[in-house]
Amino acid sequence: MEKCVFCAGLDHKSIDCFIYWNSNVRRKRISSQKRCLSCLEPKCALSHSTCPRQNVECSLCSSASRKYFHHLFLCNFYSIEKPTANGS
Ligand SMILES: [Zn+2]
Ligand SMILES: [Zn+2]
Ligand SMILES: [Zn+2]
Repeated sequence: MEKCVFCAGLDHKSIDCFIYWNSNVRRKRISSQKRCLSCLEPKCALSHSTCPRQNVECSLCSSASRKYFHHLFLCNFYSIEKPTANGS
């Protein structure tokens, strides 16, 4: 399995990350890693014009009047349920 792009964990997929479980913290994480918000790859964050997904709009939250460009993993509509508090 590929590493989780958010926490580098191996036991879950990125989309199921329970450490970075909502779109806000996921975006911050991706930004702090200097990754691209559209494709999550580090290589095009500096020159976004080379991004293979630069014109791919989010299919979940874009509408005819408003387009959103971000990776599905970062979409507000795709946050997983908050994990139950474990005390730490
Ligand atoms: Zn993770
Ligand atoms: Zn990109
Ligand atoms: Zn979206």
